[in-house]
Amino acid sequence: MCGQVPSVGDPSSPIADLFKEIAASPFALAPERAAELHEIRKERQIRIQFDDGVLRDKNFRVDPQRGSIRVGLHALERLWAGCHAHWQLAKATERYVKHGTPIEFTEDLSLQTALNTLTWAHAEDAEDEWPCGLPRPAMADQRRGPESEATEFFLVAAGWSLLHEIGHVVYRHPTVSTPADSRRQERQADEWATKWVLSRWRDHSEDVKVFGKRAVGVTLALCDIAFLEAYGRTAGGTTHPDPAQRLGNFLQDDLPQYAGDASGPFLEFARLAACAALKLHFDKQRIELDATIYATADDLLSSTLCALARIS
Ligand SMILES: [Zn+2]
Repeated sequence: MCGQVPSVGDPSSPIADLFKEIAASPFALAPERAAELHEIRKERQIRIQFDDGVLRDKNFRVDPQRGSIRVGLHALERLWAGCHAHWQLAKATERYVKHGTPIEFTEDLSLQTALNTLTWAHAEDAEDEWPCGLPRPAMADQRRGPESEATEFFLVAAGWSLLHEIGHVVYRHPTVSTPADSRRQERQADEWATKWVLSRWRDHSEDVKVFGKRAVGVTLALCDIAFLEAYGRTAGGTTHPDPAQRLGNFLQDDLPQYAGDASGPFLEFARLAACAALKLHFDKQRIELDATIYATADDLLSSTLCALARIS
């Protein structure tokens, strides 16, 4: 974590170049609470370790009693690719909604390569090496263009995901629980991380874009979990709440709670981004939304989440 050198093997993935920034992301994400987080880290002896990619672990894992958090390299690869593709898709969808500009899936090279990267990162049998010629994370001193924006949102998404794990440590959740208790603990960790990120953003800056970046970044983190449901419905299994519900809880309950009047457009954009991301994967899997005219992004979101929940 921040100030410590994370454990690193020798992975060839470009994500490995971001390990230090990822470990620092919970602090950088909400600088107004960084000192508080340092205290928690010290008191609970929280340590973040990164897998070297040999196992291609696709998850974040936590031992709440010991304070250890392990992050799978492949979880980060998919998260970056998802942030990159879903963010570009959200912008294209916004242009369509506002100006009627068609979304050119085949002619827009930037969008096309973003989607190809996500397809690679999502594949079960993805090669170890990040494919040549596809977009890749941008280092701090080379940030410009879509890869730069994607990396910024990725660091928000990774920071929130790590705060979720830190939430488990703070609550001292047991390692083994009943399914009902486990789902309640997951919701508690989501709420803790979201509150951490969004409740005091004005202490850092009055610029509403600060809220917007955090809101969209967390949305992309939850979309990274939810979009997988289109390919294999788990409904969260025995340990987690339904990903559709987690996304809905954030966008329909938690986010409005922290969004002031000026934040409304970012709330709408976050909802639109989630709908666009899920619709992409619905289309790939030929899952249909009800053919209805949607008056607001919230109407569309409700319908999208219902469609996600209906998949069997
Ligand atoms: Zn959790």
